[in-house]
Amino acid sequence: MTYQLIFLGPPGAGKGTQAQLLAETVNIPHISTGDILRGAIANNTPLGQQAKSYMDKGDLVPDALVSDLVRERLQEPDAEKGWILDGFPRTVEQASFLNRLLSQGQENSLRVLNLEVPEQVLIDRLMARGRSQDDNLETIRNRLVVYQQKTAPLIDYYQKQGNLHSVNGDRELEEIRTALQAILEI
Ligand code: AMP
Repeated sequence: MTYQLIFLGPPGAGKGTQAQLLAETVNIPHISTGDILRGAIANNTPLGQQAKSYMDKGDLVPDALVSDLVRERLQEPDAEKGWILDGFPRTVEQASFLNRLLSQGQENSLRVLNLEVPEQVLIDRLMARGRSQDDNLETIRNRLVVYQQKTAPLIDYYQKQGNLHSVNGDRELEEIRTALQAILEI
C-alpha cells in the first residue's frame, strides 16, 4: 500500500501532530513545509533568507520556492514508499503543481485529510503554542485570513477531484487519530 496523503486545514488544526502520528504508524516520511522552512531560517540558508520576511508576517512564501523544495523532497529515496504532506499544498497553484508532479493517474491515489476546527478554538490553540514570531496575535489573525483566502479553496478543489475526507478536528487527539485511521482502513 503506497500512501500519498495530504493534511489540509487551518493553522492550529492539529495537522502536524496527526501527520506525525500517522507517519510513525505507517512508517513513511512526514513532510512539513513549515518545519523545513523554519529549519532553513535557523540555518540561515538562501531559502531561509528568502522565506523569513513572509513567515514573520504570516504570509505565504512564494509558490515557486515552496514547490521547488517539495519536488526535491519527494525525490528523496525514503519518499518512494509514500509520504504525508503537512502544510502543502496551500494554494490552488501548488495543488496543480503537485498533480503535475505525480505521474499520470497518480493524483487519483492522493488522499486529502481535512481537519475541521472552529476559528476561536484555533486562535486559543495558536496563542497557547506561542512557538515563535509566527505565533503572535497579529500574525495569527493574518495566517487565518490567508488560510481563508488562499487555502480554503482547496477543499472544493479536492472535493471535485474526489480525494477529500473531512474530519472533525475539535476533539481529543486519540479520537481524531482513530477517525483518520478508519478513513485509511488502518
Ligand atoms: P506551518 O508550520 O505549516 O503553519 O507554516 C508556517 C509558515 O511557513 C506559513 O505561515 C507560511 O509562511 C510558510 N509556509 C509553510 N508551508 C507553505 C506553503 N505550502 N506555501 C507557502 N508558504 C508556506
